[in-house]
Amino acid sequence: MSDSFDVIVIGGGPAGYPAAIRAGQNKLSVACIDQWKSRDGSAAFGGTCLNAGCIPSKALLESSELYHRAQHEFSIHGIKLEGVGFDVAAMQKRKAGIVRVSTQGILALFKAAGVTPLTGHGKLLAGRRVEFTGHDGAKRTLTARHVVLASGSEPMPLRGVTFDGEWIVDSWGALDFPDVPKRLCVIGAGVIGLELGSVWRRLGAETVVLEALETLLPMADAAVAKEAARHFKKQRLDIRLGARVSGAEIRADGVHVGYADARGAQTLVVDRLVVAIGRRPFTHDLLGDGTGVRLDERGFVQVDEHCRTGVEGVWAIGDCVRGPMLAHKGKEEGVAVADLIAGQYGHVNYKTIPSVIYTAPEIAWVGQTEEQAKAAGRAVKTGSFPFAASGRARAMEAGAGFCKIVADAATDEILGVHVIGPMAGELIAEAVLAMEYSASSEDLQRTIHAHPTLSEAMHEAALAADKRAIDIPNR
Ligand code: FAD
Ligand code: AMP
Repeated sequence: MSDSFDVIVIGGGPAGYPAAIRAGQNKLSVACIDQWKSRDGSAAFGGTCLNAGCIPSKALLESSELYHRAQHEFSIHGIKLEGVGFDVAAMQKRKAGIVRVSTQGILALFKAAGVTPLTGHGKLLAGRRVEFTGHDGAKRTLTARHVVLASGSEPMPLRGVTFDGEWIVDSWGALDFPDVPKRLCVIGAGVIGLELGSVWRRLGAETVVLEALETLLPMADAAVAKEAARHFKKQRLDIRLGARVSGAEIRADGVHVGYADARGAQTLVVDRLVVAIGRRPFTHDLLGDGTGVRLDERGFVQVDEHCRTGVEGVWAIGDCVRGPMLAHKGKEEGVAVADLIAGQYGHVNYKTIPSVIYTAPEIAWVGQTEEQAKAAGRAVKTGSFPFAASGRARAMEAGAGFCKIVADAATDEILGVHVIGPMAGELIAEAVLAMEYSASSEDLQRTIHAHPTLSEAMHEAALAADKRAIDIPNR
């Protein structure tokens, strides 16, 4: 095998592997190096997302939600079930199978695109050389015209709380519980904390989520966050805001979690503790001496708007660089960089990156919240449509939530769209496309939406922005 490539990608997660595939499609010789090891010690491409993030979490969210529905909602449909139960081991096995198919699929995609997969550690050296250390310990020095750093991120540790891999775990550990803890504490009410808390709550764990901030989901539109809080409360997901965790200790009767809130010092005793306080860029042993690549004060690889590090031929993408830590953001960066390397057009529109929280109801948004648009000095108009007024949502017994559009009052340009409700993560795609094309709310109003579909809520929200909704009274 050649030791010289047009492109070497270090990291095979959702940022790195698409970069490698697109480079291959662009007829460049490319290698993708990844060091991930599964729990059983086997190498796997796909990074955090496929192995320990997006995919396994969605598998368990789906299983737990189905169980919840079977227990609480099937009877509303007139379906009688007796003795509904669940088997965590079977759920975990299904999840593992989905992960395996997904990660092995990358190898097939690499083969089709002519990408050379290398399992082991990659380290950038000066002069666009890469030191590759295979999992067997063998070292080789590779050279490339371009190197793409896609080393991802890792869970943020919390001082005073030591992971033991069993009782005190990170998000990956929380996806691998062998049984349902009777009492669970999740630290952090961010996207990951809420999703993991939801999985185990639905399966019966008494779940407390401790969040240092006084506001739930401060990044979401305030109306959405308020609606979400209402539903989480109904689900008995005990979210305690203004609760800053300072430490945890494993004792005979459980994990003692120490936190401070407005009333002073508190202790919570649980069976398992999940730390989900955010993620930080992972760049451990990524850069050799004299590469010229710089990290910022938070440890992110410094890049410009086109993911260039400032060192000729060295690029960085995904969670290890600025911007939201999302798989689809990394993927777009990877594809754009591979196209730029091939001398083609490549660009990421950072204003239209959708965010999705896979709770029930689901939450999704793109663009500015009403509060952000107003704070930026925009005069805005908004239109909202509740799923309770959607025939399809009612038929699905999924009338919770709403769709909200924020548009510029003068130009009618759509500034943001916010959905809380059934399939919000799917519905938001229409809004992303609309914003990508700089659509006005009138453009959405004049677009035909099939009936009866959930997407009609988007249509009606756009109409409501001009007080022209048909299926709700306009106020
Ligand atoms: P990673 O996926 O972290 O991949 C980096 C890869 O590089 C890893 O395999 C790592 O082992 C490897 N690597 C690092 N350094 C080296 C080196 N020196 N040599 C060789 N290999 C190296 N995002 C979403 O968009 N949607 C979701 O629903 C979602 N859910 C999530 C749920 C959880 C529980 C978690 C933890 C995250 C979730 N995320 C989600 C975030 C998402 O997983 C990340 O944004 C995404 O994985 C980042 O992709 P990446 O390729 O930049 O990094
Ligand atoms: P995210 O960054 O979206 O994954 O969310 C992580 C959440 O954890 C944020 O909302 C933080 O405010 C919260 N957080 C961080 N440190 C602590 C802490 N010590 N105690 C409780 N919550 C915390």
